[in-house]
Amino acid sequence: MANTSVAAKKTPAKRHAAKKLVRIHQVVKYPDPVLAARGEEVTVFDEELKTFVEEMFESMYEAQGIGLAAPQIAVSKRIAVIDLSFKKNPEEKIALVNPQIVEMQGKQLEEEGCLSLPEIREKVSRAAWVKVRAQDVHGEWFEVEGEELLARALQHEIDHLDGILFIDKISRLKRELVMRKIKKAQKNGEW
Ligand SMILES: [Zn+2]
Repeated sequence: MANTSVAAKKTPAKRHAAKKLVRIHQVVKYPDPVLAARGEEVTVFDEELKTFVEEMFESMYEAQGIGLAAPQIAVSKRIAVIDLSFKKNPEEKIALVNPQIVEMQGKQLEEEGCLSLPEIREKVSRAAWVKVRAQDVHGEWFEVEGEELLARALQHEIDHLDGILFIDKISRLKRELVMRKIKKAQKNGEW
């Protein structure tokens, strides 16, 4: 999911020499086929997975996002990360492995964006509250509940793991307008 905060957008893409070097993955854009595929279940919980999740957080921050799913960096696996605080509060970092929505309630209609669909924003209807069951990097199951933006981010990222983008959830007319915008951007070399 794309960050909506203007302040966060200004963060320069600089590296600190003292910091451990983490691989930054490029975010793929629609219509890359990896975005339409169902991600594979994660069955091995090793060091490689831990490193990969760290890389996902860093790649998300680099792209100015608050949520990222593995298929968005061309890895077709059921892994997603969310940090609504955008680096400000480590407690808000959520790494989800093999997540499933187990309960949902209510409705909300808010604008949504996606790192794989830059500059596109549309109102999307989502559940107002969700409960998600997922594994952590060690394979331990846990539950996370969220409302408002967190509920939206959880649903958006879990959709990615099933090959669903937010533009799949808007009206046909709006989708056609979005497609036109994308085609124009592609033509101008901006996509
Ligand atoms: Zn997205």
